[in-house]
Amino acid sequence: MVAAGPTSTPRPSWADASWDSTVLHLDMDAFFLSVELLDRPELRGVPAVVGGRSGRSVVTSASYEARKFGIQSAMPMAHALALYPQLVVIEPSREKYTRASRQVMDVLHEVTPTVEQLSIDEAFLDVSGSRRRLGTPAQIARMIKDRVRETTGLTSTVGVAANKSVAKILSDRSKPDGLGVVPAEQTREYLAPLPVNVIWGVGPKLLQRLKNADIHTVGDLAARDPERMHRWLGAVGSQIVALARGEDNRSVEPRQEAKSVSVEHTFEYDVTNPTELERYLLDLSYECARRVRNDGLVARGLSVKVKDVDFTTRTKSMSLPGQASSGAVFFHHARPLLHELMSKRWHPVRLLGVRGDRVAEPTEQVETQLSLFEVDETGADTDTEPNWDSTDQILDDVAKKFPGAAIKPASLLRHERTQRMSDS
Ligand SMILES: [Mg+2]
Repeated sequence: MVAAGPTSTPRPSWADASWDSTVLHLDMDAFFLSVELLDRPELRGVPAVVGGRSGRSVVTSASYEARKFGIQSAMPMAHALALYPQLVVIEPSREKYTRASRQVMDVLHEVTPTVEQLSIDEAFLDVSGSRRRLGTPAQIARMIKDRVRETTGLTSTVGVAANKSVAKILSDRSKPDGLGVVPAEQTREYLAPLPVNVIWGVGPKLLQRLKNADIHTVGDLAARDPERMHRWLGAVGSQIVALARGEDNRSVEPRQEAKSVSVEHTFEYDVTNPTELERYLLDLSYECARRVRNDGLVARGLSVKVKDVDFTTRTKSMSLPGQASSGAVFFHHARPLLHELMSKRWHPVRLLGVRGDRVAEPTEQVETQLSLFEVDETGADTDTEPNWDSTDQILDDVAKKFPGAAIKPASLLRHERTQRMSDS
């Protein structure tokens, strides 16, 4: 492994004086794809992506070889295949990514409790308090990279700087398998020549406005008067000037990822039929709940997402009146959300998704978890329900006994579904 980044070897002076605050940003390299390659080493060095195979799916993770052909995350799969027809497409396997993510985060927590997880494969660490024990910031970063690789077999990139903003910019620019270090006193010097869109908050629209004002580099932005920028752009104006000057006093907030579990389906054709949409919603609700249960967790919120033919995405969310991990409870609450989303007009839908929000360990006894019987007591539902919790149990048992069996809730519940659909 070769350390990359603006300066790869720590100089003695960095070890002590100037590191009042030291933030590390760790980001796994092409995470989903790299996890898949652990099981399929023969695909190393081959342009490959993770994503659904259907023409309407998107790329969720692309190998660096695929990126050479212009293929990147969030790109429609059809587009990616047009760029490189021999592209290897690997179906995503979420459980594997969750497991690897947990291993990575465990390594980070061994170094310091001050870990702020940003996503499944990304975190900030404040190592200001660990230096005496573990060495210079660069040594700590190197050690973390090594441990992550030994534990998971995966490479990561780490940025080391005086604050979050610079640490993140550094890791982005040091990929893959890189280690970038910028000591506090060199921050402005390092940032100045970079394109201005590396600054957090500068998206495509703002970038164009800045260009029109002759602001192209971070240095150009840092030289502007924050007051005038504030008058021109509002709060974001003075914020981006501060970030461009390397000023960012946001602290690393120790927290686990605000976890959510989402399941989506992109239709082969646009769906307009409400019954058909509800049928998919039922499947997705059960699948989403199954994944939450798989990790021994419960959800405290629920969201339904639809993407229209014109790619407009709309989401409706709610707080569950308790904690839940039952497919029936998910569907019970997801259904009105879908109706709200579609109430204006039943327009053609190309993607439907269900997401369990604020997913975490149960805090109450399992018996007090939300079930449809409790929902009944609130008067929200007066149907006589079968024992939904035991239905979930049956599904889990079947899945355990026959791993990979295509047992779907909808096929088990066709009868109930027919009833539910007809009472709407
Ligand atoms: Mg990543």
